[in-house]
Amino acid sequence: MSSDSPRFRAVLDQFVGYTPGKAPSPAAGRTFKLTSNESPYDPLPSVRAVIASAASQVNRYPDNTAAELIDAIATRFDVPPAHVAVGCGSVGIAQQLLEAVGEPGAEVVYAWRSFEAYPYLTDLANATSVPVPLVDARHDLPAMAAAITERTRLIFVCTPNNPTGTAVTGAELTAFLDQVPPDCLVVLDEAYVQYVRDPQVPDGLTVYAGRPNVAVLRTFSKAYGLAGLRVGYLVGHEPVAAAVRKTMLPFTVNSIAQAAAIASLAAEPELLERVELVVKERDRVRHEMRGQGWSVPPTEANFVWLPLADRSAEFVAHCDAAGVSVRPYLPDGVRVTVADPEANDAFLTAAASYPDRV
Ligand SMILES: *Cc1c(COP(=O)(O)O)cnc(C)c1O
Repeated sequence: MSSDSPRFRAVLDQFVGYTPGKAPSPAAGRTFKLTSNESPYDPLPSVRAVIASAASQVNRYPDNTAAELIDAIATRFDVPPAHVAVGCGSVGIAQQLLEAVGEPGAEVVYAWRSFEAYPYLTDLANATSVPVPLVDARHDLPAMAAAITERTRLIFVCTPNNPTGTAVTGAELTAFLDQVPPDCLVVLDEAYVQYVRDPQVPDGLTVYAGRPNVAVLRTFSKAYGLAGLRVGYLVGHEPVAAAVRKTMLPFTVNSIAQAAAIASLAAEPELLERVELVVKERDRVRHEMRGQGWSVPPTEANFVWLPLADRSAEFVAHCDAAGVSVRPYLPDGVRVTVADPEANDAFLTAAASYPDRV
């Protein structure tokens, strides 16, 4: 039997790929893109200079082992270089991890709603998603532990959780990890760790240290402001880091990204001052939103979550008309990135003129 088009895996038939955040519609005056949790600040001059100089060598392949970057990460976080692996953003590493465990029958547990890449990367890796509903916008770790079977190969714990902003506490995480079998990998996705201020929320690097089946995913995209260059890293024990290296596409982290990431670690104090400004703005935005009568869960990230349910699309359109682009997650709610004060004020003004509250 011949078919009139090339044949692909059935999983692609219902496939919904990643939908990036929209840019604002053109409007009078300044517009604001609050859809992608990016840093609102331009790259630091010191980082820009390194990027420009790395550009002069792009006729050469990058260092496939990213040795200098891995050493810089290992030194900065006081972990062995053999515990570090890098990838094309932390989403690239998530894909490599799923590639390393995925086979028919393998189960991947994650909270839902959470990072939208988890479901489709799990599908692509030939594994089965086991989503566990959030409770009050937070991970339900006891329910996630109960969802583990002998087929569970990987569990994502996204903390702070994208898109709801809530983070898991140390006590919750310890109780959970004590129930996970040693052959099942737990990935703490800490894309927003630099924005955490709640002292009850642990640093994943202190958690992974004593647990061979725990790994931490981090990125240069958000707090370090390198989203356009695509570089993230994993810290995990040697077999985990080795699996990530084996599943890496050759030369996946380009030379400009490697150089810029090293420069960003060198400039970290300056970058963290910017993070501090965003944290202050986050607390102000949540406070003012609550003052306007909205329900906004606590957030430890650089965004706020509005559980608007069936009014989500209308609210997004309302903000868009005011030149502020925010991200719908239908049918649950809307995520709004916290940026610089002018952008946040534009959002708060738009929200204030929306008639309904939750
Ligand atoms: C933004 C984000 C990432 C990945 O970002 P990269 O740009 O691929 O490094 C990973 N996890 C979560 C939860 C995110 O929100």
